[in-house]
Amino acid sequence: MPTYPRPLSSRLPHVGTTIFTVMSALANEHGAINLSQGFPDFDAPADLLALLNEHARAGHNQYAPMTGVPALREAIAAKVAALYGAQYDVDAEITVTAGATQAIFTAVAALVHPGDEVIVFTPVYDSYGPSIELQGGKVVYADLTVPGYRPDWDAVARLITPRTRMIIINSPHNPTGTIWTAEDMVRLEALVRDTDIVIVSDEVYEHMVYDQARHESVLRYPGLAERAVVVSSFGKTYHVTGWKIAYCLAPRELMAEFRKAHQFIVFTVHAPSQYALAAFMSKPGWYEQLKALYQGKRDIFRQALSGSRFELLPCQGTYFQCVKYGAISEEGDRAFVERLTREHGVAAIPVSAFYPNGDDHGVIRFCFAKSATTLEKALERLIRL
Ligand code: PMP
Ligand code: GLN
Repeated sequence: MPTYPRPLSSRLPHVGTTIFTVMSALANEHGAINLSQGFPDFDAPADLLALLNEHARAGHNQYAPMTGVPALREAIAAKVAALYGAQYDVDAEITVTAGATQAIFTAVAALVHPGDEVIVFTPVYDSYGPSIELQGGKVVYADLTVPGYRPDWDAVARLITPRTRMIIINSPHNPTGTIWTAEDMVRLEALVRDTDIVIVSDEVYEHMVYDQARHESVLRYPGLAERAVVVSSFGKTYHVTGWKIAYCLAPRELMAEFRKAHQFIVFTVHAPSQYALAAFMSKPGWYEQLKALYQGKRDIFRQALSGSRFELLPCQGTYFQCVKYGAISEEGDRAFVERLTREHGVAAIPVSAFYPNGDDHGVIRFCFAKSATTLEKALERLIRL
């Protein structure tokens, strides 16, 4: 095995392996039920898999256009027009990406200059900070207030400086399962009005919003949409996280810059799945079905845990349920999830992993995107604690 012979200066000195990889590996090692990393343990719809097969066999196996297969971009434009009344140009304003992670990374790479400041909200999805740092940007943290995980708009206003280039937002929010309200969007719209700040809006859980609440997409707010890269992920919406396919929308000026970077980061995305998704998206009713599916799972999860010593935090969206475990243990959240995995056979994510300084509020995250049988087995174990 060769060994690199020189001292190595890391571009990301404080970054290790993601908590999702770490906890899934620990779950596998101990044969635990994996409610840590967010992905469904049930399969994608059979029709979608049949379409993938059909399009691979039909010879759609060479490079797709750099911006995405036209039929898929058309389906995306029709979707956002129907759901949010948003008009996006199929050719100039929509790009298919290799997952939301790549869309966010690319938006940052294309739009953030060295020394620019980018505001993110803690607890923060783990890819945002490193994406900014790799471009020489400065990450500025706005805390969602604990408990409740609400944005404090006066505090955000104080963080904005002439160097603020971008604000990355995420509703429904991973890891907390909270959603932003119309009032939040209006506050943000007012804050950025006279600036050249770009918004990156991570809306990968857009269809998982519960109890009749409405997803407040940036696409509904002209003062935000005019300066936004809006990202959604087919992985979440069609139970195909392993396909790593997503899309983003932006006004043409921003999208032109985005594509300059996109073409050299991946150039283009897996072709047969684009054709399959384009065909599948024309079927009506999927988003309502998806919401009902996950709301049902959330309700089963909460109902069972309501009789336990875990304290349930609100879950308004996403497929994550956060809980406090203070009545069970005084351990730190990492120690607790490790013991939960090893000794009780259920893996979860410590929410401290989403804070740059590891702030530990005694909160852990469970993913309930699991089959009824998996949930039943996991809940049996959790309610005994
Ligand atoms: N943003 C958030 C908030 C997520 O939860 C995830 C995935 N769980 C992503 C981005 C990445 O999505 P993708 O797998 O499409 O890259
Ligand atoms: N976003 C998923 C989660 O929050 C995991 C994605 C990943 O493993 N990088 O669990």
